[in-house]
Amino acid sequence: MYASQMYELGAEPNIIRKIFEYSQKRCNEIGEENVFDFCIGNPNVPTPEGFHKAIRELISQKNDYFLHGYTSNAGDQETKRAIAADLNTRYQTSFHEDNFYMTCGATASLRISVEALCEDGDEFITFTPFFPEYRVFVETAGASLVTVETNPDSFQIDFDNLKPAFSEHTKGIIINSPNNPSGVVFSEKSIRTLAGILKDKSEEYGHPIFLISDEPYRELVYDGLKVPFLTKYYDNTLVCYSFSKCMSIPGERIGYILIPDEVENHKSIHAAICGAGRALGYVCAPSLMQHVIAKCAGEVADIELYKKNRDFMYQALTSYGYECIYPNGAFYMFVKAMEEDAAAFCDKAKELELLMVPSDSFGCSGYVRISYCVPLKRIERALPAFQALAKKYQS
Ligand code: PLP
Repeated sequence: MYASQMYELGAEPNIIRKIFEYSQKRCNEIGEENVFDFCIGNPNVPTPEGFHKAIRELISQKNDYFLHGYTSNAGDQETKRAIAADLNTRYQTSFHEDNFYMTCGATASLRISVEALCEDGDEFITFTPFFPEYRVFVETAGASLVTVETNPDSFQIDFDNLKPAFSEHTKGIIINSPNNPSGVVFSEKSIRTLAGILKDKSEEYGHPIFLISDEPYRELVYDGLKVPFLTKYYDNTLVCYSFSKCMSIPGERIGYILIPDEVENHKSIHAAICGAGRALGYVCAPSLMQHVIAKCAGEVADIELYKKNRDFMYQALTSYGYECIYPNGAFYMFVKAMEEDAAAFCDKAKELELLMVPSDSFGCSGYVRISYCVPLKRIERALPAFQALAKKYQS
């Protein structure tokens, strides 16, 4: 009568959404100020200056046909030219408009990319901890997800774990740095080593192994750290980008896939991306947003506010005895649960109105994810609860 795989995906929302629903209910019952919700990665800092300015200018200068009409399926040429120019300035690359396919955010970028590359029996590798939707994107495309543990002391890539994960069926590897949920940025040394292994494995199996770089947090890095721009390290790289986080506009649904000229058979891969977008119904990304991006590509919200939250929270939590790998990027902290069962730990936290996400759905056990893209006041108010929670395990 209907597709059972789709029923299961729809009937059982992911854990983050479940906690989000609970949080809404609890806020209605006891007041928002008494619920310490650190679950969802919904950016809370204002959009960058140019964003609303661009909307105002466009609305006052352009007609409705331009603003709200269809663009071509792959996106507006001027928008793609503006994105190429911004990347070329920032990363000394030489992209042009035909390297892009505009999408409704990283979700669409990833799902389209996997669909475009996927043939029967294919496998995609990713590192734990990982964004839980990867499993949905890969499995609904008919491929399987192979997970590889990172180094538990740093959450950097562990190459001894990675090597045995390849097979003749490996089509690609999905990486996400800065990482959700760990906040870790993969080092340049790791990226160089990864690129070398991908080249060797592509030769060994006689077909390209694609690097799919999921980059919604590319600009969200602190402490002067630089995120390596992956197309410069490995030719067969597809970049899945989103403006959701850097511009604080996740509800606007805008992003892109970048298919550089260096990708083997790049024209055919671009055509397959267009085909996958067509088959999945992801054509003509929201046109007003495309025109806005054409005017302000490269602008970033004030990430100093996230840094302030991170510094304050990291210092406080570690002083209470929590353990956490220092997060250099994104707006998440991945904190060790104080008992083996992270879900049980989150249940105890919930009794204190502290809402965090247990790590199991990110493909690893024993941690909780804290999203610190929240008002500083919420962090301040939550500290006694964090302290009380730690004390339960320390006595
Ligand atoms: N990839 C990662 C790692 C994410 O954290 C998210 C959203 O939180 C996405 C992809 C999806 O982003 P978008 O809102 O652009 O679809």
